[in-house]
Amino acid sequence: MHLSSYEELRYRLLTQAVTCEEAVRFYLDRIDDNRHDNIFITVFHEKALERARSLDRKLRDGGEPGILFGMPVAIKDNIAMKGGRLTCASKILSNYESVYDATAVLRLEEEDAVFLGKTNMDEFAMGSSNENSAFGTVPNPFDKTRVPGGSSGGSAAAVANGLAMVALGSDTGGSVRQPAGFCDIVGLKPTYGRISRYGLVAFASSFDQIGVLARNSDDAALVLGVLAGRDNHDATCSLRDVPDYGTEMTSVRVEGLKIGVPKAFFPENLNSDVSRIVMGKLHELRERGAELVDITLPESDYAIAAYYILVTAEASSNLARFDGARYGYRSSESGDLSSMYVNSRTEGFGREVKRRIMLGTYVLSAGYYDTYYKKAQQVRRVFQDRYREALEKVDVIAGPTSPFPPFGIGDKMADPLEMYLADVFTVPASIVGMPAVSVPVGMDSLNLPVGMHLICNFFEEGKLLGIAKMMQRND
Ligand code: GLN
Repeated sequence: MHLSSYEELRYRLLTQAVTCEEAVRFYLDRIDDNRHDNIFITVFHEKALERARSLDRKLRDGGEPGILFGMPVAIKDNIAMKGGRLTCASKILSNYESVYDATAVLRLEEEDAVFLGKTNMDEFAMGSSNENSAFGTVPNPFDKTRVPGGSSGGSAAAVANGLAMVALGSDTGGSVRQPAGFCDIVGLKPTYGRISRYGLVAFASSFDQIGVLARNSDDAALVLGVLAGRDNHDATCSLRDVPDYGTEMTSVRVEGLKIGVPKAFFPENLNSDVSRIVMGKLHELRERGAELVDITLPESDYAIAAYYILVTAEASSNLARFDGARYGYRSSESGDLSSMYVNSRTEGFGREVKRRIMLGTYVLSAGYYDTYYKKAQQVRRVFQDRYREALEKVDVIAGPTSPFPPFGIGDKMADPLEMYLADVFTVPASIVGMPAVSVPVGMDSLNLPVGMHLICNFFEEGKLLGIAKMMQRND
């Protein structure tokens, strides 16, 4: 059963050519066959089949199938599902069970999706390679010696390997888009506030967004339509109505489309294959009637500097709740209250998470607040203004998703700054809060995937996905 889109599966399910149970069993078998790749942290074998059988009954009894009827979905393990483990790929939460469902999960469920399991990730979504996980490394689907990207590496590998049709991820600075780029699939980070964050474990609350990983833009649009919209549980969630993304996508025309191409996204040291493939695709669009417009945006390096000050500051506060008393792991070496805090955190958190908590505490300290945190907030505002101005002149801003193709496992673990630079092109959209997508546009000389990164103005997800669809490479 090779399926490249949900439309295909839906047709087979609704004509009863296959049952939900058969479809879900097919995916669960594939998950089992690939279990050595650590893609899933938890698999819902029985629950998923039970759910599939109940959907089959619903259809037989003449019930109205939901928008995502029978869609096999994987969920990143920092999104809450009631009664299930919620680890964030951290030792500190390795036995923690969620007591409620994330809004995103409830919405998928209401539209008849089937949950297959929870996927691996960088601990607390901090990383770009999935190597910062307490649950093992995930290999890239195209070359097992390389990383799948991160932090939603498990979600991206699950979709790319056909272990799930769609997966949810979270994106704070690129964690949906960068792994999508590394795994040859579509990864969408919506506008900040478009999807409720209720039930998403907080890393940096003013950046975090749930995003969608899918095989194509149509599937991503369908799922976004279900997830988006107001939620009384999340005060930062937008009250704006949710448009019909499918209709918005089809109204995008290549003729006259203005594509902004900033120098900031094509630096001198950009990998030559990446540059050739991305530029090649842009020229192809120009031949089809689009206009390529030179635009000037601030150097993305400043975005990285500001990002790592702001997110570590927010993380140091958000992660204070993991203290050995309220959630998860407690050290057995604790004599008194303060040693319980210190030892539980020392033993429970991994290196990268500790590094960020310390950095964040430092940039928020009384003596350095103005120098670092306040300055970074000012940089954030400059980026917002400049991106808004740019998008008054063009429809979309384009560039590569990542400055290089998937790198080798272990290659960047010794140097955190090197690792941080993997997000140099994805972080700006997170700083400004605009929607952005990575779409597969080609394979490099080693047969590794290359992604195109597109940014549109606030709440223009339909247009963004329509443009992504024009660009996606054909198999
Ligand atoms: N790789 C980036 C970081 O480590 C982005 C993470 C994310 O988007 N969750 O912060």
